[in-house]
Amino acid sequence: MKNPIRSVTVLGAGIAGLACAEVLVRAGVAVTLLDKGRRPGGRVATRRAEGTVFNHGAQFATSRGAGFGALLDDLRAAGQAAPWLAAGNDGRRMSFIPGMSALPAAMADRAIALGAVLRTGRHAAFLHPAQPGWAVRHLAATDIGPGETAASGGERTLPQDAVLLALPASQAASLLATAAHPFAAVAGRAVIAPCWAVMARFAVRVAGADVLSDRPGPVAWAAREGSRPGHAAEPDAWTLNASPEWSRAHLEDSVEQVSQALLAEFRAVTGAPAPDLALAHRWRYARVETPIGLPCLWDPACRLGACGDWCLGGRVEAAYDSGIGLAHAVLADT
Ligand SMILES: Cc1cc2nc3c(=O)[nH]c(=O)nc-3n(C[C@H](O)[C@H](O)[C@H](O)COP(=O)(O)OP(=O)(O)OC[C@H]3O[C@@H](n4cnc5c(N)ncnc54)[C@H](O)[C@@H]3O)c2cc1C
Repeated sequence: MKNPIRSVTVLGAGIAGLACAEVLVRAGVAVTLLDKGRRPGGRVATRRAEGTVFNHGAQFATSRGAGFGALLDDLRAAGQAAPWLAAGNDGRRMSFIPGMSALPAAMADRAIALGAVLRTGRHAAFLHPAQPGWAVRHLAATDIGPGETAASGGERTLPQDAVLLALPASQAASLLATAAHPFAAVAGRAVIAPCWAVMARFAVRVAGADVLSDRPGPVAWAAREGSRPGHAAEPDAWTLNASPEWSRAHLEDSVEQVSQALLAEFRAVTGAPAPDLALAHRWRYARVETPIGLPCLWDPACRLGACGDWCLGGRVEAAYDSGIGLAHAVLADT
């Protein structure tokens, strides 16, 4: 009989990693989460610039299944979530209060209160087989650029019984390749589209609808931040998302070029004035176009696993379900 799994390193504290961590820690497993970001949440993100709040990642969350639905109900009861009616008058599109990042913040608080340890600003760079299980080499995120891999340096975690990757597919594939694990090729099958997001603030209120959706592009989606529940109506702040096709074609453009191009189209459609603040953010891996079609990946012999939206589909709930699925697969094996 194998040794039970008592300790786990979860790489990535987005929705998948946080969901996975909570189930494991509730079952008595010691969990350490490492994330390269300054805060947990990954693509469920909120940013404040010159005092104005923008939600430049996931625009809203919907639930189809009971598990994620129960979490949303808890957050609604706590006043941290509410339907965003401007984005869908059936009330199914939930926004979080004071911003989208309130969802991962609440999930992280729950996991930490149960005993999970969260280290942010740490970039996982290499998986080392150890006794028992795995050690992870990680560096200060400020020491490593996007897409870079570091051959040496940083610190190593203490060996843990298992390591679980809750990273976007391409980062998971790179890290799994450091362990020469065949899951690297499986993660590499997922197809993920990039997305340019532009955040703009206007001194004069933009006329017309609060949300422009299902557009062919370049601007595929635009939303007035002040139309979200719990958001200030003034100043008039907007987040624009470019279509996958436009984002792919302009992936390496500068933030200035992207802001100008998307704001020009937005102005042509809405008559918006020139903004007094404009920022752009490139999500190199934003929306899953082709998931691998499995709830998660778990190798009980190696004690390596992976989860994320790229397993089941490009939605917040799919990331959550994948994280829960991986935690249950791990627990079934102990
Ligand atoms: C612009 C945009 C709009 C979207 N709109 C919606 C929407 O309206 N509704 C919806 O349901 N979904 C939407 N999504 C998709 C949704 O955000 C994702 O499906 C979901 O958040 C993915 O969660 P995840 O945990 O799988 O991955 P992520 O959120 O990407 O989390 C992965 C984590 O891993 C960390 N990480 C990466 N590499 C490393 C490393 N080497 N070491 C340590 N940490 C690392 C990252 O910092 C991140 O925190 C949108 C996404 C984008 C970008």
